[in-house]
Amino acid sequence: MTMQTKIKNQPIKDSYNRRIDYLRISITDKCNLKCVYCMPSKGLEYFKEAEILTDEEIVRFIRIAHNHGLRKVRITGGEPLMRKNIISLVSSIKETGIRDLSLTTNGITLSKIAGDLKAAGLDRVNISMDTLKAARYKTITKGGDINLVRESIKEAERAGLTPVKINVVPIRGINEDEISAFASLTFKENYHIRFIEFMPATRNGIWRKERCVSSEEVLEKISTLGNLDSFEFRGRGPSRNYRLKGAAGIIGIISPLSDHFCGFCNRLRLTADGKIRPCLFSMEEIDIKTPMRNNATDKDIDKLFLHSIKVKPQRHLLNENTGATRIIKTMSKIGG
Ligand code: SAM
Ligand code: SF4
Repeated sequence: MTMQTKIKNQPIKDSYNRRIDYLRISITDKCNLKCVYCMPSKGLEYFKEAEILTDEEIVRFIRIAHNHGLRKVRITGGEPLMRKNIISLVSSIKETGIRDLSLTTNGITLSKIAGDLKAAGLDRVNISMDTLKAARYKTITKGGDINLVRESIKEAERAGLTPVKINVVPIRGINEDEISAFASLTFKENYHIRFIEFMPATRNGIWRKERCVSSEEVLEKISTLGNLDSFEFRGRGPSRNYRLKGAAGIIGIISPLSDHFCGFCNRLRLTADGKIRPCLFSMEEIDIKTPMRNNATDKDIDKLFLHSIKVKPQRHLLNENTGATRIIKTMSKIGG
């Protein structure tokens, strides 16, 4: 590698001295489930095909961002595995040189293509599963079959998409009674169980502050299972990680509301319709699709990328009643 390439690939720092090297990209707003905390009960009006970034546009943006030190990409949605040609898209993204390529999925269709995704260059997966009970899973997801998700977890392990991370959103009155059961899985299995604090996604109706289970409460429940060692207390990401004594797996706590992690934030988001969101809860979005479709040069897109880093806010204002919650489109459109 030449000196010039090294300098070219250094991550950019934002106005608050945070190194921005992580992009979460929603590649579709479509989903085969309708989780009660994510989708409005009436369903969503999906983007039209032409409104969504094409594979070429996505890869072009990632290539440009990689020149500025982008190291990690997470593919999300909607349900990313509903996108046509997902295998070739994964392969093209990996070819840009991205070091760590991961994907978040509900696991409904993953089992069939886990090996192909690995072969295409996917490094890891997060699989969302908010309950271990089949009937409850059906209720939360409005019809999903938990057996498909269980099979996907096994296939992901077999394919080497590891460590398999399992995302759980504990919600009071819905599944908070399963926090210990999820944590107990780590005794035997090398899973990373990630408890994600329930966040307000507008127009879904079920969000109430009282339904949020704070990180303290999650930790309190888990600590009844054994000694909890802080494990890599705070890396460069939002997760606080722990390990139960003697356990194979790891427990992560992600709490954007009760625990301000903005100071550690290293990420940007790209929405399915081609807008950079400097923060999940940003007021500002930077459109890259329109310029790309109007013959913008790489230099022009470069400037938009740098601008989005420059305007990344210091922190979200969710706890301050500023109306910030109103501007969340829905998780599935932004990519949760
Ligand atoms: N469909 C995929 C899935 O479910 O994993 C990827 C997209 S989903 C929007 C990404 C993550 O956001 C999931 O782990 C989901 O549980 C989480 N999520 C969705 N709505 C949320 C909310 N209101 N609060 C906290 N997390 C949420
Ligand atoms: Fe779909 Fe994922 Fe949202 Fe559930 S959380 S409705 S699976 S996008």
